[in-house]
Amino acid sequence: MQGFDYTAATTVTQAVGAAGTGSAYLAGGTTLVDLMKLDVMGPSTVIDINALPLTAVTTDSAGLHIGALARMSDVAANTQVTSAFPVLSQALLASASPQIRNMASIGGNLLQRTRCDYFRDVTVSCNKRSPGSGCPAQTGANRGHAILGTSTSCAATHPSDLAVALTALGASVQLQSGSGTRQVALSDFYVEPGTTPNVENTLQAGELITGVLVPPLPWATNSSYLKIRDRQSYEFALSSAAIAVEMSGSTITAARVAVGGVGTVPWRLPAVEAALQGQTATVANFTTAAAKAVTGAKTLADNAFKVTLVQRAIIRALSELLGVS
Ligand code: SF4
Repeated sequence: MQGFDYTAATTVTQAVGAAGTGSAYLAGGTTLVDLMKLDVMGPSTVIDINALPLTAVTTDSAGLHIGALARMSDVAANTQVTSAFPVLSQALLASASPQIRNMASIGGNLLQRTRCDYFRDVTVSCNKRSPGSGCPAQTGANRGHAILGTSTSCAATHPSDLAVALTALGASVQLQSGSGTRQVALSDFYVEPGTTPNVENTLQAGELITGVLVPPLPWATNSSYLKIRDRQSYEFALSSAAIAVEMSGSTITAARVAVGGVGTVPWRLPAVEAALQGQTATVANFTTAAAKAVTGAKTLADNAFKVTLVQRAIIRALSELLGVS
C-alpha cells in the first residue's frame, strides 16, 4: 500500500474543504481500503467522513431521503424502506455479506468499483485503471462481463445492486463541493465507458455524495429485486432485475424495470416498461416485453448466455411478484 496523509472531518464543509487532487473520502472503507491494499487506488490524502451527520433516513413530500453515511444494513432494515420501497431493501440484502453491509455506506456502495479481475490486478493492463493500456477482457476471461453499454475499450459491469434498484425508481444523488450543492439523477450520474472507461461518473473533483433522494412512487410498495449469481450469498450478479409494477385488476398500468450484472452502468429499460404497460399479467406478455431488454447487446466469447439470462430474470421477477405462473 502506498503511503498517504490522513485527516478526519466533522462537518461536510470541513470535508469538502480538505479535498483536493488525489484525495479520497473514507466511509466504511470496504471498497477503498481493499483497493488501496491492492495498489489499484493510491490516494495522497484520505479524508475520514464517518463523523459527518449523514446517517438519517427520512420521508417527506419530496420522497425518501437516505443519508450517504447510512449503513447498508440499517437502510435494508428501515421500516420506511421495507414498507414503501421493498425493492431497495431486497437489493441491499442481496449484496455482499452481513459484515460488509454493517460497515459499507450508501454513498460508498454507489461508488464501488468494478469486480473485473484485470482491474484489480496491477500486473496486467486495464484501460479503466491505466488509460490507454488496453483491455485484456476483450479476448480473455469475460464470462462475467457486460453485454449492454460496452465498448472495445471496456466491458466491465457496474457491481452495485442498490444502484440498479435506485435507477428503476428514478432516484437522484445529492452532491456537495466547495462551490455548492447539486442534485443529479442516477441515470445522468453513471457514464458508459466509451473510449474513457476511467471516467465512471459525473462526480467532480472533491465532490461528496451527501445523500440519495427517492421520489414518491406509491405503487413501489409492489416491487422486488431478483439477483441471479453463481452462488446464493456473497457474490456479484450475473444478472439481476429490479421491478415495480402498478396493477389495475390483472392489467399492468405502469412498470419500472432496471437490470444489473449485464450493463456497464445500472441499466433502466424504458422499452420493456412501455411494452408491459396496458398488458395483462401473463408469462407470454412478460416474455414479449423482456425481449426488448437486449436490443443492442454485444457479446464477448464467454458471456453470450447473459442475453438469455437477463430476459429470464425479468420474466421470473415479474412472475414471482405478480403471482403468475
Ligand atoms: Fe479494465 Fe474494463 Fe477491460 Fe476490465 S473490461 S480489463 S476493467 S478496461
